[in-house]
Amino acid sequence: MFCSSVSKSISFAANLKNINMSLVVVGSMAFDAIETPFGKSDKIIGGAGTFIAWCASNFTAVKQISVVGGDFPQSELDLLTTRNVDLEGVQIKKDEKTFFWSGKYHMDMNTRDTLVTELNVLENFQPVVPDSYQDCEFLMLGNLVPAVQSSVIDQLRTRPKLIVMDTMNFWMEIAMDDLKKTISMVDVLMVNDSEARQLSGDYSLVRAAQKISAMGPKYVIIKKGEHGALLFHDNKIFSAPALPLEEVFDPTGAGDTFAGGFIAHLAKTRDISFENMKTAIIVGSAMASFCVEKFGTERLRGLTNEEIKDRIHQFVQLSSFDINLI
Ligand code: AMP
Repeated sequence: MFCSSVSKSISFAANLKNINMSLVVVGSMAFDAIETPFGKSDKIIGGAGTFIAWCASNFTAVKQISVVGGDFPQSELDLLTTRNVDLEGVQIKKDEKTFFWSGKYHMDMNTRDTLVTELNVLENFQPVVPDSYQDCEFLMLGNLVPAVQSSVIDQLRTRPKLIVMDTMNFWMEIAMDDLKKTISMVDVLMVNDSEARQLSGDYSLVRAAQKISAMGPKYVIIKKGEHGALLFHDNKIFSAPALPLEEVFDPTGAGDTFAGGFIAHLAKTRDISFENMKTAIIVGSAMASFCVEKFGTERLRGLTNEEIKDRIHQFVQLSSFDINLI
């Protein structure tokens, strides 16, 4: 039952004529330097908005809002354009440097230390929502300065059908008031388990979700890395697995990729029911499972629709079972 509804409702951007143009994505575009127990990368392309765009563009067109410096390769922007990512809302500050982030993963690959965060162009970023982005139905606020995220909501003349927000501990530490204000404006908040605990001050994830929901979002998604994700709404909970992988190479961007798959599925199907959100979580989890297989955005770049469909079916099989209650 679950299996067939998932396969029926998932379609891909290959059918370009069916693309609806109503997903706006906001998020950092960055250079990352990553260290894992398996290796080290030089400065590579990263950023929450970049991962979301690479992922979501498999399902629907994307209108991107971000900022980069003059050092960001034009070829990277051109590649996104060929994937139906509209960059009218991406500012290029020729004389400034792109946001830079560096992190080091521990042996378990579930925890990491941030080594460097250089905000650079993000420091004074004032997003301008282009006219052609107005009337979007879906808004994905990827990880970024909370005041920038709320400024995008403020600039939209019509409230989108669904606003989803991601954030991270960094903003909880330096901009909690702004963060809480932005959280109060969105429909869905996604955070990882330690961020949920930090934000709510509660160790129990169930109580943490209740407390976060009381801040505004009707839906709360808690990502648990290799242990999957939880969706909370009213008194309902959905638990999605993560695909057990032999090897996790680099988890950077997995959360953003998850967000990209989640919102893109909802935007593609234009259905924001709890049932469809469950499917969207499976799509997000499947996409995130690709992301971790290589450094940075590398694995997302070469993905085919067939690979995505196969991976989603693997997910369905992973947790489907029959039971005859005695
Ligand atoms: P994730 O692994 O899903 O948490 O996302 C990692 C990505 O987030 C990296 O590509 C970073 O460039 C980006 N990132 C790290 N810190 C921040 C921050 N404070 N604001 C915006 N993006 C960030």
